[in-house]
Parts: sequence; structure tokens; C-alpha cells
Amino acid sequence: MYLRSIRTRLTIWYTSLLTVSLVILGGTAYGLMSYSLSHEMDNALHSVAGALIEQDPGRSTALLPSEIEQAFRRFFGFSPWDQYFQMRDPSGNRDERRSSPSNRKLPLSRNALQNALRGLPYFETVEGIGEYPVRVLTMPVVQSNRVVNMIQVGMSLQNIDETRFRFLLIMAGVFPLGLILAASGGWLLAHRALKPVNRMSAAARRISAEDLSQRVNETGTGDELDNLAKTLNRMLDRLDVAFSQVRRFSADASHELQTPLTILKGEMELALRSERTPEEYRATLESALEEVDRIAHLVEGLLLLARAEAGVLRMDRREVDLLQMLEEVYLRLRPLADSHCVELRLGSMEPLRIQGDGERLQAMIFNLVDNAIKYTGAKGRVTLELRREREYASILVSDTGIGIPIEEQGNIFQAFYRASEARGLSERGTGLGLPIAQSIASAHGGNISVESAPGQGSSFKAMLPITS
Ligand code: ADP
Repeated sequence: MYLRSIRTRLTIWYTSLLTVSLVILGGTAYGLMSYSLSHEMDNALHSVAGALIEQDPGRSTALLPSEIEQAFRRFFGFSPWDQYFQMRDPSGNRDERRSSPSNRKLPLSRNALQNALRGLPYFETVEGIGEYPVRVLTMPVVQSNRVVNMIQVGMSLQNIDETRFRFLLIMAGVFPLGLILAASGGWLLAHRALKPVNRMSAAARRISAEDLSQRVNETGTGDELDNLAKTLNRMLDRLDVAFSQVRRFSADASHELQTPLTILKGEMELALRSERTPEEYRATLESALEEVDRIAHLVEGLLLLARAEAGVLRMDRREVDLLQMLEEVYLRLRPLADSHCVELRLGSMEPLRIQGDGERLQAMIFNLVDNAIKYTGAKGRVTLELRREREYASILVSDTGIGIPIEEQGNIFQAFYRASEARGLSERGTGLGLPIAQSIASAHGGNISVESAPGQGSSFKAMLPITS
């Protein structure tokens, strides 16, 4: 028996509580029984004495033993236990003629005599007369306000003692039996009640990081254990999603790194295969540098995302002129827009300043505008706006480009996610731009949201708190 198991502890608690209850209950029952037996005995003695007094006064002859026995029998029934009867005069002398045989003498205590002389009955328990203690009633016989006699009746307490002993004997037998039955019942009940828990932990043991598809059995009863199973399953759902995101992230990251590395390796092997002219070497090196730049860019992005996720992304807190920043991005990307035959224009602009990291914010805006140009075909238009919305500076980058299907809009902020149509375009994207932009916005206490309709265009809105 494993002491730390809930089952064992429950059984021990249950049995201990039951023992305490049984002892209290048994003790109370024993006390009540003793009290009521003594009470009944006193009542009966009082009735016997009363009956004998009624017969005795005014009689010249003594009470016959049969008459006494009859009086006892009336109130005690056929009792084989020792009975005592005796008459005393007011000075306390025993009247031998009207008393039980001399081997059944009852003593007269001081209290009994004093009470009797005052006309009061007196009960006492006397030991040493027979084998068992005797309950004795001393009652005065009063005539014309005078105590003329004292009558003493006594009854052995053997009956009461034997009844008490039998009661104790029964309890001594029944209690342990009851306790054993209750403990085994408790043990079985606890086993039954805890069975689902055991099943749950067995199921939980089977679930590993490699296979998070398994679930704990839900009984559907709506009880505490069913709720526990449901909670565990919801937790497993979340873990499953988180683990697959991590797995996908690592797979995507390795894939994205592998492509430029393969190109790099191929170009170098080709260059080494035969003697080249210095121009050819230069061209190879330039192309290699491009790939190295791409790898460095990717690693930098991954590092930034990892830091943001771990909450250790360091941000400068300086005053940033957003209007100036947007104009700079506009000027830097105008040539790209021109080369794509996309009209890039500045819409309504409010002069707004916020506290933040200028470099990172510029990278964020740059990415949104760069995307807008990338995903807008020739003759399209990209508009930049800067407005104040309550306590926020709102940067709006809207385009008339390919748009994003509604079911994909929720995913574009995940690392490496690229919408299906965007993949079709020749542009080489990494899928890290938007997640990085979102991390930068949230590190400033803001966020980026999107509204888009496929074929009509998209509108990205970055909201940044204005801390004045
Ligand atoms: P990348 O542009 O390198 O693919 P991003 O994280 O910047 O990565 O963007 C993720 C995806 O979001 C893009 O692949 C594209 O599908 C979609 N997207 C972003 N901006 C736009 C836009 N302005 N119009 C249409 N789709 C866009």
C-alpha cells in the first residue's frame, strides 16, 4: 500500500473519521442506556416502596414474604436478582419481623436517615452486601405529619451491569467489523472514483512532443474529472498548434537558408572547375556576395523575431518625426515604384511625432511600402497617409494591387508565410517582412492591421501610440 497515493489517504481519512464517529456515537449510546436503566430502576424501587407502604400501615401483622415478593414482581417482573426489603423504626432500628432474612441486611446511611426524618426518600448505591452493588431506596412512612417508620427496598445492580457488559461486548464485535467493511468499501470506492485519473495519466504518458495528436478520453459526464480531461485536451490542442508552428518555422528557416547556400556553393564550384578571367571571377564574387547578403538579411530577421518573441528586443526611445520619416521612405522607394510603373504618392499628411526607435520604425514603414509596390501591378497606385486617430498616429499604406484572400489574411503576419498569389509572382520574398514589422509595432505598444480584397488592393494600417 503506497501511503502517498490519494486512494490510500482517502481510505485512511475515511476510516479515521468513521472510527471517531463510531466512538462518539457508541459512547453516547452507552451513557444514555446506563442513565435510562438506572432511572428505570429508581422508578421501579420507588413504586415497590409505595406499594408496600400502602399495604403496611395500620397492620398488626407483618408483611408476608410472598406479599413482598409480589410487590417486587409487579414492578420488576420475574427477576432472578437479589431483592432486599426491611422496616426500621424512626430511630433506625431494624424490625426483624418485617424484613428480608438477616443475611440480606441493608445498611442505613447518615444521609438516608437524615432525609427520611425530614420526610424525604433517598436513593444510594451500596457495595459489599452481595456479589454486585445494590441500589437502595430509603423512604419514610409518614402518618399525621409524623415519621412512624422507614421502609428500605433494594435491588441488586447485577441486571444493569450485565446489560452494560453485553452492550460493550456487542460494540467490541460490531465496531471492528463495521470498520473493516467500511475501510474495504472506501478502498474500492476510491479505486472506482480514481480509475479515470489513472486512465488519464496513462493516456498523458503516451502523448509525446512527437505525437501530440492523441487526446485524453472525455466521459461527457460533466463532472470534475470530465472537466479536467477537457482542460487537458484544450491544452494539448494549444500545444499541438504551438509545436507545429515551431516545427514549420525551423523547416522554413532551414529551407530559406539552404536555397542561397546551394546557389553560393554551385557558383563557387563552377568558378573553380576551370581557369577563369579576372572579370569572370569578379562576376562570380559579386553574385556570391548577393547570396551572402541575402543569408545575412535572413539571419538578422530571424534574430530580431527571436528576440521579440523572448521579449528582449531592445528599442531606442527618442523623438521621431513620422512625417519626415514617411517622406524619406517615399523618396527612397520612388525609383523602385517607377521601375514597376507604379504611381507612389503621398496622401493627407499630419505632422506627428512619437517616442520610439527611428531606425526600426523606418524599417517597418519601408517594408509596408516595399510590399505595396511589389504586390501592385503596372499602372497601379500606392498611397501613403499619416493621420492622428485618438491617441494614436496612424500610418496608412494602401495599394491597388493583387490583394489578399480573406482566408489568408490571418496568416500573413506569421513567419515565412507567403500568400499563394504572391508566390506566383517572380519577386523573391522571405515571408519575414510582415512578422518583423508587426514585432516592431507591438514593441512600441501598437499594431498593424490589414484590410484587403483580392484583385482590388490592400490597405495596411500601423497604429502607434503618441506618448506626449
Ligand atoms: P514577403 O513580402 O517577403 O513575401 P512579407 O512578410 O512582407 O513577406 O509578406 C507576407 C505575405 O503577405 C506576402 O508574401 C504576400 O502574400 C502578402 N502581402 C504583404 N503585403 C501585401 C500587399 N501589399 N498586397 C498583397 N499581398 C501582400
